[in-house]
Amino acid sequence: MNNILFKIAWKILGRKELHIDKELCIKCGKCYKTCTHGAITQNEDKSYSINTDRCHRCYHCLENCPKKAIKS
Ligand code: SF4
Ligand code: SF4
Repeated sequence: MNNILFKIAWKILGRKELHIDKELCIKCGKCYKTCTHGAITQNEDKSYSINTDRCHRCYHCLENCPKKAIKS
């Protein structure tokens, strides 16, 4: 329930979901290792995706990405 309220508040505030720019990403996995909420998963092609339902918007992945490939 709290997550639903958080998501509604997030949309009202106009904040966008985080996503990975596949053109910039070098598949290093730093974001995956950094995320303590299990919100980043690895795909079959070794790329990574952010599960926005699990994301707590702590921005640790964004701060640790060497290619600035994580965008909001
Ligand atoms: S840290 Fe950045 S470059 Fe590395 S896998 Fe994640 S998004 Fe891609
Ligand atoms: S912002 Fe935080 S919770 Fe969301 S994907 Fe990045 S490290 Fe995980």
